[in-house]
Amino acid sequence: MRPSSRTAMDESLSALEELLDASPYTVAFTGAGVSEESGIPTFRGREGIWKEFPPALYGNLPGLALAFLARPRRVAALASGVLGTLLRAEPNPCHLALARLEMEGRLHAVITQNIDGLHQAAGSRRVIELHGNAFRLRCTRCGARVEVQRERALAVLEGLREAMTRRRLLEALRRYAEPCMRCGGRTRPDVVLFGEGLPAGELNQALEEAGRCRLMLVLGTSGVVYPAAMVPRLALETGARLVVVDPARTALSSRAHLHIPAPAGSFFAAWLEDR
Ligand SMILES: [Zn+2]
Repeated sequence: MRPSSRTAMDESLSALEELLDASPYTVAFTGAGVSEESGIPTFRGREGIWKEFPPALYGNLPGLALAFLARPRRVAALASGVLGTLLRAEPNPCHLALARLEMEGRLHAVITQNIDGLHQAAGSRRVIELHGNAFRLRCTRCGARVEVQRERALAVLEGLREAMTRRRLLEALRRYAEPCMRCGGRTRPDVVLFGEGLPAGELNQALEEAGRCRLMLVLGTSGVVYPAAMVPRLALETGARLVVVDPARTALSSRAHLHIPAPAGSFFAAWLEDR
């Protein structure tokens, strides 16, 4: 690293430390940029799998149902691509640093827009998932939620890769979304698809945390996708300070107390190294 950028990094690191020390209640708000550094392509970037499967066509239930009838092999390729990517992903230094801050009592919650469960995998305990979790199912009748074990997800991935017909695809999908153990109702992935509302319980919790915090770390998110974008805005309106870590200028960086123009993963790698 060049001396000048090393100095800039050192300054950012000590500025963050000062803000953390001064705040009695801190929460993090994370988005796709944080997952991207673990190898999960973003919708917006139209990278990886989303170049081949535009979210506008495949990111919602009606679109998927239509594709299931007309092009089952495409749906099988999409489902195995998404599931394979999620199963391969591992926490990066940003996830690890947030878990460490929570353990040290300096971070009180993580509010995330990501569905990959990587914050929990890194050791974070208080995680509010605004867009659900891809490794959890929800009963469409009684609302019960159940985790999908990794072994089952791997078996389903195998089935999807071999699904060349609609019948085989349906079998693989049914193996993933087994009927509800409580009421026998149909289940679906507990994630928010395009055009669907956010889970009210999680959104309320997130807004409560935003109203309560004195410092919010905004990591890897442009802060423009509503209603999730209400969270940092409420924090600002109730007088919290914002730290934005994002390589680009965002809608929030101009209102932030501190903008660190770096990818969250590499910034927190330096933070972890510095300790
Ligand atoms: Zn049920």
